[in-house]
Amino acid sequence: MRAYLRLMATLVVAAVAMPASWFQLLDTLKEQASYESYYRSQPPVACPWCGQPLTNGPPQAGALLYCPSDGWQYPRDWDEDSMAGM
Ligand SMILES: [Zn+2]
Repeated sequence: MRAYLRLMATLVVAAVAMPASWFQLLDTLKEQASYESYYRSQPPVACPWCGQPLTNGPPQAGALLYCPSDGWQYPRDWDEDSMAGM
């Protein structure tokens, strides 16, 4: 019990000495926004419908990547909001 109280006292002193600021929260939000924009900009590696790895699309179809089993194509069928992992 005494060790617990000593630990709590140390944490309280540390929290008073280094209070969290709005700038830290702003930095966290900026970091989250950068992660989100990065993952939205990355092309998919697997089909979002069936999970099969995508292959390079045929040039006549104009698709960069496509799924050979169900015909899903990137970027034609790509939806960032539901398929980018966000
Ligand atoms: Zn597929």
